[in-house]
Amino acid sequence: MGEAGANRESAPEARLIVRCLMDEELLRGGCLCTAVTYEVWAPFLRFAHCHCSRCRKATGSSHATNLYASPDRFRWLSGMEHVVRFDLPTAKSFATTFCRLCGSPLPHHTRSGLEMVVPAGSLDEAPSLRPSARIFFDSASWGCASDDVPRFSEYPEWWRK
Ligand SMILES: [Zn+2]
Ligand SMILES: [Zn+2]
Repeated sequence: MGEAGANRESAPEARLIVRCLMDEELLRGGCLCTAVTYEVWAPFLRFAHCHCSRCRKATGSSHATNLYASPDRFRWLSGMEHVVRFDLPTAKSFATTFCRLCGSPLPHHTRSGLEMVVPAGSLDEAPSLRPSARIFFDSASWGCASDDVPRFSEYPEWWRK
């Protein structure tokens, strides 16, 4: 960041600069009461809506919308002591994390520790990446889904690398 003005006249270098800026996309987020704040930066692994029953319960909505990032692309900025994690005992990996003061969903690492799951609604600004899937879509079709994002009854093949 900070050197985007250099060599603007050269097309190949301009493309490189654009790519570097995208790689360095930095997003801030936090909870409703603002006690907890964090930052996460690109590249992001994926961005998707999940309509499964667990995500519906955890969010109180028709789906969760999560941005996934490598854990080394994430850090808490404030209020970490207010973050409460709940690992669903009956699930292999489902967890939810929230602010104990205001109840807002917050990012958490997967039990494998390999990914950070960032509830997109907790972001302060929109990522440049767009959602690429609605997964477990069949379990609740009553939500906002009148778009053309590809739909899957379960994890698509490309979900796990
Ligand atoms: Zn809060
Ligand atoms: Zn889900």
